[in-house]
Amino acid sequence: MSDIPVNANEDNEAKETVSRNFIENEIDKDLKEGNYTSVHTRFPPEPNGYLHIGHAKSILLNYGLAKEYGGKFNLRFDDTNPTKEKTEFVDSIKADVEWLGADYEDRMFFASDYFDQMYEAAVKLIKKGKAFVCDLTADQIREYRGSFDTPGKNSPYRDRSVEENLELFDNMKNGMYKDGEKVLRAKIDMASPNINMRDPVIYRVAHMSHHNTGDKWCIYPMYDFAHPIEDAIEGITHSICTLEFEDHRPLYDWVVRELEYEYPPRQIEFAKLYLTNVVTGKRYIKKLVEEGIVDGWDDPRLVSIAALRRRGFTPESIRMFVELCGISKSNSSVDYAMLEYCIREDLKSKRPRIMAVLDPVKLIIDNYPEDKTEYFEVPNNLENEGLGTRKVAFSRELYIDRDDFMIEPPKKYFRMFPGNEVRLMNAYFAKCVGYETDENGKVTVVHCEYDPETIGGECSTRKVKGTIHWVSAAHSVPAEVRLYENLVDEEKGVYNEEDGSLNLNPDSRKILKDCRIEESVKGAKAYDSFQFVRQGYFCVDVKDSSDDALVFNRIVSLKSSFKL
Ligand code: ATP
Ligand code: MG
Repeated sequence: MSDIPVNANEDNEAKETVSRNFIENEIDKDLKEGNYTSVHTRFPPEPNGYLHIGHAKSILLNYGLAKEYGGKFNLRFDDTNPTKEKTEFVDSIKADVEWLGADYEDRMFFASDYFDQMYEAAVKLIKKGKAFVCDLTADQIREYRGSFDTPGKNSPYRDRSVEENLELFDNMKNGMYKDGEKVLRAKIDMASPNINMRDPVIYRVAHMSHHNTGDKWCIYPMYDFAHPIEDAIEGITHSICTLEFEDHRPLYDWVVRELEYEYPPRQIEFAKLYLTNVVTGKRYIKKLVEEGIVDGWDDPRLVSIAALRRRGFTPESIRMFVELCGISKSNSSVDYAMLEYCIREDLKSKRPRIMAVLDPVKLIIDNYPEDKTEYFEVPNNLENEGLGTRKVAFSRELYIDRDDFMIEPPKKYFRMFPGNEVRLMNAYFAKCVGYETDENGKVTVVHCEYDPETIGGECSTRKVKGTIHWVSAAHSVPAEVRLYENLVDEEKGVYNEEDGSLNLNPDSRKILKDCRIEESVKGAKAYDSFQFVRQGYFCVDVKDSSDDALVFNRIVSLKSSFKL
């Protein structure tokens, strides 16, 4: 989406054309030619699962267009299918759309509220001689339909009279037939090169309760018939959907034309968003949830919107991501690293940078007084002075990260090892003078001596190559930290070629129970995020964290080879 307003002046015209996507170009043309006088879009989820990052693209595209053209945006639950829908999903979808900032105001609708109008529309088609009740079985219908290179055959029921069709359709509605016994079909063209146009089924018998209309109906409209009607009823101008519906567009146009809507909506398709090595697609996410491979729809390893939110992604980062992806007519896959780039960009100057030790080992400063505590005033974010400063406690016993110490370091290792001096970030220079191990040779304590002259970590007479972070043992708080990696094995790809199963990464979640974080983190609430210096961005978990037992999710590490 471009940020350039529609009424940008002539001087900007060249620039404007370059940055506008093809949907904007189509809308511009429609407005110029007077096909429409305003823009009205919708997001039409089926409430059969949680939304994912792909839906975020669709939401932000539709909402963004409505906003850009000063038009309207509807949230419409496409709940015409009585089998799979649940109110749990309706609630989660609303929450996700709102969180993304796509304000639908009071424009929330349910397609099932239009069942009466859809029924009337079907009757209208019958009266026009454009629809007929067919007694062929599902298998026969498929057989009669032909294939890509063979034309279809007319159903023997195709020439029923209008009166007979009206009566039979009424009987269908009144529950006189079993599921599958009869269907209503559009009468279009069995020889059409487009199979979707070969007398498609538009209504079926299904004796099922619907979550909204209960047992009122035992016939339900098919998607290709229902969707254009939903759009037309709501006054949608541009019905934006994904590429797999391109071949259905002639049917969409046929429905709105035959029903003679005064302002027929128009369908425009764009390519779905796919992420490399990431499981998108409601069906697959559902499987992971149901098989217990992840802990629910909001498991932070998923890319459902609920999961991204829980992990610590912000609406701003998702918006940036969607804009960077752009809108296209051909399917392609975007690297997950780009999403990571966006959250880093968003948080980098917004959130405080604090010290956290994820795998602690004790560091004792032998020459520091036992009962002393010093406080260093430290900026919260060097790139954003507005975030102010905080006081960080320093004392004789600290924790440092285990991998910041080595007994026998390789070349180019500049952190703590016996005899080496490093900077304890913001505090002092300290030189390693020894260490203790347990019976297995595991290091339990590192000893060092500090130089009081290097207060603040500054020294004019000598340099050190390594700077490490630390927390004061007595002034830090314990926390659990969860590190995430890709859910699927990147080497092998998402799907197993032989049986289509997922290639799972066994190390997709690592739980660190004994982390220590500087005490400024106390009072952090769900969704609060921080940069832990040298480690990455972390967010307080909404489900499992409490004031006394903090739990953090790693949103993203600091480093990446990703370049824009
Ligand atoms: P999935 O394929 O994940 O099961 P869906 O298409 O069945 O999703 P719907 O609830 O029917 O899910 O989708 C609502 C809207 O979101 C539709 O307009 C659909 O085209 C769009 N959408 C779904 N997946 C993507 C995606 N990956 N990228 C962009 N838009 C998407
Ligand atoms: Mg769908």
